[in-house]
Amino acid sequence: MVTPSEPILHVDLDSFYASVEVLKDPSLAGKPVVVGNPGPRGVIMSASYEARAAGLHSAMPSLRARRVCPAAVFLPPSFEDYRAYSNRFREILLSFTPRIEPLSLDEAFLDVRGATMLFGAPAGIGERIRTTIRSELELTASVGVGPTKLIAKLASTRAKPDGMLFVRAGEVLAFLHPLPVSALWGVGDKTAGTLGRLGIRTVAELAETPSVILDRLLGAGPAASLLGLAWGRDDRSVVPFEAPKSVSAEETYLRDLDESDEILREVLALSYRVASRLRSDGYRARTVTLKLRLPSFATITRSKTLARPTDVASEVYAVAGDLLRRLPQTRRRFRLIGVAASNLVPAGAEQVGLVRAGRWGDAERAVDRAVRRFGSGAAVPAALLRPRRGGGAPPDPPGSRTRHPKGNGGA
Ligand SMILES: [Mg+2]
Repeated sequence: MVTPSEPILHVDLDSFYASVEVLKDPSLAGKPVVVGNPGPRGVIMSASYEARAAGLHSAMPSLRARRVCPAAVFLPPSFEDYRAYSNRFREILLSFTPRIEPLSLDEAFLDVRGATMLFGAPAGIGERIRTTIRSELELTASVGVGPTKLIAKLASTRAKPDGMLFVRAGEVLAFLHPLPVSALWGVGDKTAGTLGRLGIRTVAELAETPSVILDRLLGAGPAASLLGLAWGRDDRSVVPFEAPKSVSAEETYLRDLDESDEILREVLALSYRVASRLRSDGYRARTVTLKLRLPSFATITRSKTLARPTDVASEVYAVAGDLLRRLPQTRRRFRLIGVAASNLVPAGAEQVGLVRAGRWGDAERAVDRAVRRFGSGAAVPAALLRPRRGGGAPPDPPGSRTRHPKGNGGA
Protein backbone atom coordinates (compact mmCIF):
# COMPACT_ATOMS: atom_id res chain seq x y z
CA MET A 1 0.00 0.00 0.00
CA VAL A 2 1.27 3.49 -0.82
CA THR A 3 1.86 5.93 2.00
CA PRO A 4 -1.54 7.40 2.90
CA SER A 5 -2.06 11.15 2.48
CA GLU A 6 -4.04 11.22 5.74
CA PRO A 7 -1.85 9.28 8.20
CA ILE A 8 -2.65 11.15 11.41
CA LEU A 9 -5.35 10.04 13.85
CA HIS A 10 -6.55 11.89 16.92
CA VAL A 11 -8.39 9.59 19.32
CA ASP A 12 -10.35 11.15 22.18
CA LEU A 13 -12.50 9.33 24.74
CA ASP A 14 -15.94 10.93 25.16
CA SER A 15 -16.56 12.74 28.49
CA PHE A 16 -13.98 10.42 29.95
CA TYR A 17 -14.16 11.02 33.72
CA ALA A 18 -17.96 11.09 33.75
CA SER A 19 -18.16 7.96 31.58
CA VAL A 20 -15.87 6.04 33.93
CA GLU A 21 -18.07 7.09 36.87
CA VAL A 22 -21.14 5.74 35.07
CA LEU A 23 -19.33 2.44 34.45
CA LYS A 24 -18.56 2.22 38.17
CA ASP A 25 -22.17 2.95 39.12
CA PRO A 26 -24.55 1.89 36.34
CA SER A 27 -27.50 3.47 38.19
CA LEU A 28 -26.09 6.80 36.96
CA ALA A 29 -26.64 5.88 33.30
CA GLY A 30 -28.83 8.42 31.51
CA LYS A 31 -28.46 11.00 34.29
CA PRO A 32 -26.69 14.37 34.10
CA VAL A 33 -23.42 13.35 35.74
CA VAL A 34 -20.56 15.76 36.34
CA VAL A 35 -17.15 15.21 37.91
CA GLY A 36 -15.87 18.05 40.02
CA ASN A 37 -16.03 19.61 43.45
CA PRO A 38 -19.58 20.97 44.00
CA GLY A 39 -18.33 23.63 46.44
CA PRO A 40 -18.25 27.40 45.94
CA ARG A 41 -14.82 27.33 44.33
CA GLY A 42 -15.29 24.11 42.37
CA VAL A 43 -15.49 23.76 38.61
CA ILE A 44 -16.75 20.98 36.38
CA MET A 45 -13.95 18.74 35.16
CA SER A 46 -16.05 16.45 32.99
CA ALA A 47 -19.74 16.31 32.08
CA SER A 48 -21.80 13.45 30.66
CA TYR A 49 -23.69 14.13 27.45
CA GLU A 50 -26.92 14.25 29.45
CA ALA A 51 -25.37 17.01 31.55
CA ARG A 52 -24.21 18.80 28.41
CA ALA A 53 -27.72 18.63 27.01
CA ALA A 54 -28.82 20.42 30.20
CA GLY A 55 -26.33 23.23 29.47
CA LEU A 56 -23.36 22.13 31.58
CA HIS A 57 -19.81 21.94 30.30
CA SER A 58 -16.22 21.48 31.44
CA ALA A 59 -14.63 24.41 33.29
CA MET A 60 -18.07 25.78 34.27
CA PRO A 61 -18.14 26.95 37.91
CA SER A 62 -20.01 24.38 39.99
CA LEU A 63 -22.27 26.99 41.61
CA ARG A 64 -23.54 28.07 38.23
CA ALA A 65 -23.89 24.46 37.12
CA ARG A 66 -26.10 23.74 40.11
CA ARG A 67 -28.36 26.65 39.27
CA VAL A 68 -28.55 25.65 35.59
CA CYS A 69 -29.18 21.99 36.34
CA PRO A 70 -30.20 21.28 39.95
CA ALA A 71 -30.62 17.57 39.11
CA ALA A 72 -26.93 17.22 38.19
CA VAL A 73 -25.13 14.47 40.10
CA PHE A 74 -21.75 15.76 41.31
CA LEU A 75 -18.98 13.23 41.89
CA PRO A 76 -15.45 13.82 43.15
CA PRO A 77 -12.72 12.77 40.69
CA SER A 78 -11.20 9.32 41.17
CA PHE A 79 -7.93 9.68 39.34
CA GLU A 80 -6.74 6.19 40.11
CA ASP A 81 -9.62 4.73 38.17
CA TYR A 82 -9.09 7.22 35.33
CA ARG A 83 -5.42 6.38 35.22
CA ALA A 84 -6.15 2.67 35.13
CA TYR A 85 -8.55 3.13 32.22
CA SER A 86 -6.09 5.48 30.57
CA ASN A 87 -3.36 2.86 30.69
CA ARG A 88 -5.63 0.32 29.03
CA PHE A 89 -6.62 2.93 26.45
CA ARG A 90 -2.94 3.48 25.71
CA GLU A 91 -2.34 -0.26 25.41
CA ILE A 92 -5.11 -0.52 22.83
CA LEU A 93 -3.57 2.30 20.79
CA LEU A 94 -0.12 0.69 21.09
CA SER A 95 -1.52 -2.53 19.67
CA PHE A 96 -1.97 -0.65 16.37
CA THR A 97 1.25 1.38 16.28
CA PRO A 98 4.09 2.39 18.57
CA ARG A 99 3.84 5.90 17.13
CA ILE A 100 1.41 7.36 19.64
CA GLU A 101 1.69 10.73 21.38
CA PRO A 102 -0.63 11.01 24.39
CA LEU A 103 -1.91 14.52 25.09
CA SER A 104 -3.69 13.67 28.31
CA LEU A 105 -5.23 10.67 30.01
CA ASP A 106 -7.94 10.37 27.39
CA GLU A 107 -6.56 11.57 24.07
CA ALA A 108 -3.65 10.83 21.81
CA PHE A 109 -2.28 11.37 18.34
CA LEU A 110 -1.28 8.38 16.23
CA ASP A 111 0.81 8.28 13.10
CA VAL A 112 -0.37 5.13 11.32
CA ARG A 113 1.98 5.32 8.31
CA GLY A 114 3.76 2.18 9.45
CA ALA A 115 0.58 0.32 10.39
CA THR A 116 -1.28 0.22 7.07
CA MET A 117 0.36 -3.02 5.86
CA LEU A 118 -1.02 -4.79 8.89
CA PHE A 119 -4.28 -2.98 9.58
CA GLY A 120 -5.34 -1.29 6.33
CA ALA A 121 -6.13 2.34 5.53
CA PRO A 122 -6.13 4.99 8.28
CA ALA A 123 -9.92 5.40 8.38
CA GLY A 124 -10.30 1.63 8.82
CA ILE A 125 -7.77 1.73 11.65
CA GLY A 126 -9.79 4.54 13.25
CA GLU A 127 -12.94 2.41 13.17
CA ARG A 128 -11.12 -0.63 14.55
CA ILE A 129 -9.75 1.45 17.41
CA ARG A 130 -13.25 2.70 18.21
CA THR A 131 -14.65 -0.83 18.15
CA THR A 132 -11.86 -2.17 20.37
CA ILE A 133 -12.30 0.63 22.91
CA ARG A 134 -16.03 -0.01 22.99
CA SER A 135 -15.71 -3.75 23.50
CA GLU A 136 -12.72 -3.79 25.88
CA LEU A 137 -13.30 -0.64 27.94
CA GLU A 138 -17.06 -0.13 27.45
CA LEU A 139 -16.26 3.50 26.61
CA THR A 140 -16.88 5.46 23.44
CA ALA A 141 -14.16 7.30 21.57
CA SER A 142 -14.25 9.85 18.81
CA VAL A 143 -11.62 9.79 16.10
CA GLY A 144 -10.39 12.39 13.64
CA VAL A 145 -8.36 11.28 10.63
CA GLY A 146 -6.46 13.78 8.52
CA PRO A 147 -3.22 14.81 6.87
CA THR A 148 -1.95 16.79 9.89
CA LYS A 149 -2.27 16.92 13.66
CA LEU A 150 -4.33 20.10 13.58
CA ILE A 151 -6.86 18.65 11.15
CA ALA A 152 -7.07 15.31 12.97
CA LYS A 153 -7.69 17.07 16.29
CA LEU A 154 -10.35 19.41 14.88
CA ALA A 155 -11.98 16.46 13.12
CA SER A 156 -12.30 14.39 16.29
CA THR A 157 -13.85 17.38 18.06
CA ARG A 158 -16.36 17.72 15.22
CA ALA A 159 -17.10 13.96 15.33
CA LYS A 160 -18.07 13.95 19.02
CA PRO A 161 -19.68 12.07 20.60
CA ASP A 162 -19.00 8.52 19.46
CA GLY A 163 -18.13 9.35 15.88
CA MET A 164 -15.38 9.50 13.33
CA LEU A 165 -14.56 12.16 10.77
CA PHE A 166 -12.13 11.60 7.93
CA VAL A 167 -10.84 14.81 6.35
CA ARG A 168 -9.09 14.07 3.06
CA ALA A 169 -6.06 16.10 2.05
CA GLY A 170 -8.07 17.68 -0.76
CA GLU A 171 -10.84 18.76 1.63
CA VAL A 172 -8.69 20.46 4.25
CA LEU A 173 -9.42 24.06 3.30
CA ALA A 174 -13.15 23.45 2.91
CA PHE A 175 -13.13 21.96 6.40
CA LEU A 176 -10.83 24.49 8.02
CA HIS A 177 -11.84 27.84 6.53
CA PRO A 178 -15.35 28.21 7.99
CA LEU A 179 -14.04 27.61 11.54
CA PRO A 180 -13.41 30.47 13.99
CA VAL A 181 -9.77 31.58 14.29
CA SER A 182 -9.70 30.15 17.81
CA ALA A 183 -9.66 26.68 16.22
CA LEU A 184 -5.99 27.21 15.29
CA TRP A 185 -3.18 26.23 17.67
CA GLY A 186 -1.87 29.21 19.53
CA VAL A 187 -4.95 31.41 19.12
CA GLY A 188 -6.19 32.11 22.62
CA ASP A 189 -8.66 34.73 23.78
CA LYS A 190 -6.10 37.51 23.48
CA THR A 191 -5.08 36.82 19.88
CA ALA A 192 -8.68 36.11 18.89
CA GLY A 193 -9.62 39.51 20.37
CA THR A 194 -6.81 41.29 18.51
CA LEU A 195 -7.83 39.68 15.22
CA GLY A 196 -11.53 40.25 15.91
CA ARG A 197 -11.00 44.01 16.23
CA LEU A 198 -9.81 43.93 12.60
CA GLY A 199 -12.87 41.92 11.59
CA ILE A 200 -10.87 38.69 11.22
CA ARG A 201 -13.12 36.04 12.78
CA THR A 202 -12.86 32.93 10.62
CA VAL A 203 -9.86 30.97 9.44
CA ALA A 204 -10.77 31.97 5.87
CA GLU A 205 -10.62 35.66 6.80
CA LEU A 206 -7.27 35.09 8.45
CA ALA A 207 -5.93 33.19 5.42
CA GLU A 208 -6.86 36.11 3.14
CA THR A 209 -5.26 38.77 5.35
CA PRO A 210 -2.01 40.19 3.87
CA SER A 211 0.97 38.97 5.84
CA VAL A 212 2.34 42.53 6.38
CA ILE A 213 -0.77 43.32 8.41
CA LEU A 214 -0.49 40.17 10.51
CA ASP A 215 3.25 40.73 10.99
CA ARG A 216 2.58 44.15 12.45
CA LEU A 217 -0.25 42.82 14.61
CA LEU A 218 1.29 39.63 15.99
CA GLY A 219 5.00 39.74 15.18
CA ALA A 220 6.58 38.11 12.13
CA GLY A 221 7.15 34.64 13.60
CA PRO A 222 3.67 34.01 15.04
CA ALA A 223 2.06 35.61 11.97
CA ALA A 224 3.87 33.28 9.58
CA SER A 225 3.00 30.18 11.57
CA LEU A 226 -0.67 31.21 11.88
CA LEU A 227 -0.94 31.90 8.17
CA GLY A 228 0.60 28.49 7.50
CA LEU A 229 -1.99 26.81 9.71
CA ALA A 230 -4.79 28.79 8.07
CA TRP A 231 -3.68 27.29 4.73
CA GLY A 232 -3.59 23.81 6.24
CA ARG A 233 0.18 23.64 6.66
CA ASP A 234 1.16 21.95 9.91
CA ASP A 235 4.47 20.12 9.91
CA ARG A 236 4.48 19.02 13.53
CA SER A 237 5.06 15.29 13.71
CA VAL A 238 3.70 12.77 16.16
CA VAL A 239 6.29 12.45 18.91
CA PRO A 240 5.97 8.99 20.41
CA PHE A 241 5.47 8.60 24.10
CA GLU A 242 8.38 7.21 26.05
CA ALA A 243 7.81 5.73 29.45
CA PRO A 244 10.14 6.97 32.18
CA LYS A 245 13.07 4.67 32.86
CA SER A 246 12.98 5.25 36.58
CA VAL A 247 11.59 7.38 39.37
CA SER A 248 13.96 8.48 42.09
CA ALA A 249 14.42 10.80 45.03
CA GLU A 250 17.61 11.70 46.81
CA GLU A 251 18.88 14.09 49.44
CA THR A 252 22.31 15.52 50.12
CA TYR A 253 22.79 16.39 53.78
CA LEU A 254 24.55 19.35 55.29
CA ARG A 255 26.32 17.04 57.71
CA ASP A 256 26.96 13.33 57.30
CA LEU A 257 24.26 11.09 58.77
CA ASP A 258 25.49 8.32 61.02
CA GLU A 259 22.61 7.43 63.33
CA SER A 260 20.78 4.39 62.11
CA ASP A 261 17.34 5.68 63.23
CA GLU A 262 17.83 8.88 61.36
CA ILE A 263 19.16 7.12 58.27
CA LEU A 264 16.18 4.76 58.20
CA ARG A 265 13.83 7.69 58.60
CA GLU A 266 15.41 9.33 55.57
CA VAL A 267 15.11 6.10 53.59
CA LEU A 268 11.43 5.96 54.57
CA ALA A 269 10.85 9.57 53.49
CA LEU A 270 12.55 8.94 50.15
CA SER A 271 10.57 5.70 49.66
CA TYR A 272 7.39 7.65 50.30
CA ARG A 273 8.32 10.26 47.71
CA VAL A 274 9.20 7.63 45.11
CA ALA A 275 6.04 5.58 45.67
CA SER A 276 3.83 8.63 45.61
CA ARG A 277 5.36 9.66 42.28
CA LEU A 278 4.91 6.14 40.92
CA ARG A 279 1.22 6.25 41.79
CA SER A 280 0.65 9.71 40.40
CA ASP A 281 2.32 8.70 37.12
CA GLY A 282 0.52 5.36 36.96
CA TYR A 283 3.51 3.03 37.18
CA ARG A 284 4.70 0.17 39.34
CA ALA A 285 8.34 -0.74 39.75
CA ARG A 286 9.99 -4.14 39.76
CA THR A 287 13.39 -2.94 40.96
CA VAL A 288 14.32 -0.83 43.97
CA THR A 289 17.78 0.73 44.22
CA LEU A 290 19.39 2.30 47.25
CA LYS A 291 22.14 4.83 46.58
CA LEU A 292 24.50 6.00 49.27
CA ARG A 293 27.39 8.42 49.11
CA LEU A 294 30.07 8.09 51.74
CA PRO A 295 32.01 10.97 53.30
CA SER A 296 34.84 10.05 50.89
CA PHE A 297 32.41 10.73 48.01
CA ALA A 298 32.51 7.09 46.97
CA THR A 299 29.03 6.00 45.91
CA ILE A 300 27.49 2.65 46.69
CA THR A 301 24.37 1.33 44.95
CA ARG A 302 22.48 -1.79 45.86
CA SER A 303 19.44 -3.10 43.98
CA LYS A 304 16.84 -5.75 44.43
CA THR A 305 14.19 -6.94 42.00
CA LEU A 306 10.80 -7.84 43.42
CA ALA A 307 8.61 -10.79 42.60
CA ARG A 308 5.66 -8.44 42.10
CA PRO A 309 5.91 -4.80 40.95
CA THR A 310 4.90 -2.23 43.54
CA ASP A 311 3.82 1.40 43.93
CA VAL A 312 3.49 1.17 47.71
CA ALA A 313 5.93 3.10 49.94
CA SER A 314 5.99 0.49 52.71
CA GLU A 315 7.10 -2.13 50.17
CA VAL A 316 9.72 0.15 48.61
CA TYR A 317 10.94 0.97 52.11
CA ALA A 318 11.07 -2.69 53.16
CA VAL A 319 13.44 -3.42 50.27
CA ALA A 320 15.55 -0.27 50.62
CA GLY A 321 15.83 -0.72 54.39
CA ASP A 322 16.88 -4.34 53.91
CA LEU A 323 19.54 -3.32 51.39
CA LEU A 324 20.80 -0.80 53.92
CA ARG A 325 20.98 -3.34 56.74
CA ARG A 326 23.07 -5.70 54.61
CA LEU A 327 25.88 -3.17 54.32
CA PRO A 328 28.87 -3.59 56.62
CA GLN A 329 28.53 -1.61 59.86
CA THR A 330 31.73 0.32 59.21
CA ARG A 331 30.33 2.02 56.15
CA ARG A 332 27.20 3.51 57.73
CA ARG A 333 27.97 7.17 57.45
CA PHE A 334 26.46 8.99 54.52
CA ARG A 335 26.44 12.41 52.90
CA LEU A 336 23.77 11.46 50.34
CA ILE A 337 20.95 8.95 50.35
CA GLY A 338 18.82 8.10 47.34
CA VAL A 339 16.03 5.66 46.56
CA ALA A 340 15.14 4.77 42.98
CA ALA A 341 12.46 2.61 41.44
CA SER A 342 13.08 1.22 37.96
CA ASN A 343 11.95 -1.54 35.64
CA LEU A 344 8.58 0.24 35.46
CA VAL A 345 5.34 -1.27 34.23
CA PRO A 346 2.04 0.58 33.71
CA ALA A 347 -0.13 0.23 36.79
CA GLY A 348 -3.19 -0.03 34.58
CA ALA A 349 -4.62 -3.22 33.33
CA GLU A 350 -4.91 -5.40 36.40
CA GLN A 351 -6.50 -2.65 38.49
CA VAL A 352 -9.70 -2.01 36.62
CA GLY A 353 -12.66 -3.66 38.23
CA LEU A 354 -10.58 -5.34 40.89
CA VAL A 355 -10.07 -4.58 44.53
CA ARG A 356 -6.64 -3.03 44.88
CA ALA A 357 -3.83 -4.73 46.71
CA GLY A 358 -3.56 -4.61 50.46
CA ARG A 359 -4.36 -2.18 53.22
CA TRP A 360 -1.02 -0.36 52.96
CA GLY A 361 -1.70 0.49 49.36
CA ASP A 362 -5.18 1.71 50.28
CA ALA A 363 -3.84 3.85 53.12
CA GLU A 364 -1.26 5.43 50.85
CA ARG A 365 -3.82 6.10 48.16
CA ALA A 366 -5.94 7.84 50.78
CA VAL A 367 -2.86 9.94 51.54
CA ASP A 368 -2.54 10.77 47.84
CA ARG A 369 -6.14 11.95 47.82
CA ALA A 370 -5.65 14.10 50.92
CA VAL A 371 -2.49 15.61 49.44
CA ARG A 372 -4.35 16.41 46.23
CA ARG A 373 -7.15 18.04 48.16
CA PHE A 374 -5.31 19.86 50.90
CA GLY A 375 -1.73 20.21 49.71
CA SER A 376 1.42 18.32 50.57
CA GLY A 377 1.46 19.31 54.24
CA ALA A 378 -1.78 17.48 54.94
CA ALA A 379 -0.71 13.89 55.27
CA VAL A 380 2.64 12.23 55.70
CA PRO A 381 3.48 8.91 57.36
CA ALA A 382 3.60 9.23 61.13
CA ALA A 383 7.28 8.24 61.31
CA LEU A 384 8.14 11.31 59.27
CA LEU A 385 6.47 13.63 61.75
CA ARG A 386 8.93 12.85 64.51
CA PRO A 387 11.28 15.79 64.97
CA ARG A 388 14.39 15.60 62.90
CA ARG A 389 17.66 16.39 64.56
CA GLY A 390 18.63 19.91 63.64
CA GLY A 391 15.00 20.77 62.90
CA GLY A 392 13.58 21.23 59.43
CA ALA A 393 10.27 20.23 57.91
CA PRO A 394 9.53 16.80 56.44
CA PRO A 395 10.79 16.58 52.88
CA ASP A 396 8.55 17.81 50.10
CA PRO A 397 6.80 15.04 48.22
CA PRO A 398 7.95 15.73 44.64
CA GLY A 399 10.88 13.41 43.91
CA SER A 400 13.36 13.79 41.12
CA ARG A 401 13.36 11.46 38.21
CA THR A 402 15.17 10.83 35.02
CA ARG A 403 12.39 11.03 32.49
CA HIS A 404 9.03 12.73 32.44
CA PRO A 405 5.97 11.13 30.89
CA LYS A 406 3.83 13.69 29.17
CA GLY A 407 0.19 14.60 29.22
CA ASN A 408 -2.06 15.28 32.15
CA GLY A 409 -4.85 17.49 30.90
CA GLY A 410 -8.58 17.52 31.51
CA ALA A 411 -11.21 15.20 30.19
MG1 LIG B 1 -11.97 13.43 25.92
